[in-house]
Amino acid sequence: MPEPIQLTSKLPQTPTTIFTTMTALAEKYGAINLSQGFPDFHCSPKLIERELYYMKKGENQYAPMQGILPLREQIALKAEELYGRTYHPDTEITITAGGTQAIYAAITAITRPGDEVILFAPAYDSYAPAVELCGATPVYVKMKPPDFKIDWLEVRKLLNEKTRLLIINSPHNPTGTVLTGYDMRTLQDLLQNTSAVIISDEVYEHIIFDHRHESVMRYRELAERSFVVFSFGKTYHVTGWKLGYCLAPAYLTKEFRKVHQYEIFSANRPLQWALADFMKEKEAYLQLADFYKKKRDFFLQSLQGSRFRIRPADGTYFQLLDYSAITDEPDTELAVRWTKEIGIASIPVSVFYPDKSDYKLLRFCFAKAEETLIQAGALLCRI
Ligand code: PMP
Ligand code: GLN
Repeated sequence: MPEPIQLTSKLPQTPTTIFTTMTALAEKYGAINLSQGFPDFHCSPKLIERELYYMKKGENQYAPMQGILPLREQIALKAEELYGRTYHPDTEITITAGGTQAIYAAITAITRPGDEVILFAPAYDSYAPAVELCGATPVYVKMKPPDFKIDWLEVRKLLNEKTRLLIINSPHNPTGTVLTGYDMRTLQDLLQNTSAVIISDEVYEHIIFDHRHESVMRYRELAERSFVVFSFGKTYHVTGWKLGYCLAPAYLTKEFRKVHQYEIFSANRPLQWALADFMKEKEAYLQLADFYKKKRDFFLQSLQGSRFRIRPADGTYFQLLDYSAITDEPDTELAVRWTKEIGIASIPVSVFYPDKSDYKLLRFCFAKAEETLIQAGALLCRI
């Protein structure tokens, strides 16, 4: 169709997200899809049973703007038990349509034209476009392989009176690294006497191996300036439900909800009821680290004898594979070629760097059934 109106794009540099692109390609070529992060196995039947129960019961109209109270109460209990921080269900907890929407609402609520937002690259792809739509400028701190440590001296240099926000993410997508207690204490010290706010993207809080999850909630001064974001999709194997939540002190939640109420008004009601019941079964999230550690190890086992260089992921359900001993092709081209020719889809890491730095790394999702991982391992070992 011709374009009847001359439009100036608000996001001229933003392509279709790599997750959509690679999943479509995997489907087109019938490849094993280890690109976009989602499980290929079912969630708990109990969760489905609860969902059907509440739909049949008639919980099918709008939820309250901030989310149903029983779910917010369960979340408050969990935050207190796991991280020792009290959030009031009425004023400090909001149910969202997934982590993505929580992040978008938080950025939009507090960022203005001229503000600077510190992002750590490789950065999850939804952060920068939201910042740019607010007329603010993403400022990047680069994390480099193999360990992707944050250079806090660099952060200190970048902090100034324009710094409105920092977005941190641990366990980290796409690298699978985690922030340590030292990182958190350093950040806390750096931000003293600044008016910078934090979004802490903790959607992988339970998918962490042999480390303690260093939530901002464990650090009072950090928690007091943070929106903390979670995703039920990741924790309960239901990414398609698109439900999550945001914890933030009342003064931040007040602003958050002003955006949230006009962005979506409220999130899916029957699913909120189902989750409010299911959250009482703590085992479901307490055993998640073990569950995914076994999958990571199974995947690594299946790669024995391959030509990849591997640093095992400390968290998330993503494993980076360094293919530099195999080829020097750009990662974006290789991800496409292997989807078509080998039959396995992955995510190129360079897309998460603003300068598209190519360290010859592909990201593979191991939230898959053992049969899928065996097949994937066999294909990757043949390369
Ligand atoms: N942050 C990170 C780091 C993610 O990997 C994802 C993808 N799950 C999200 C946020 C978004 O979560 P949701 O699917 O609940 O929107
Ligand atoms: N978070 C998922 C990933 O990193 C993708 C979510 C999405 O497709 N937007 O693969």
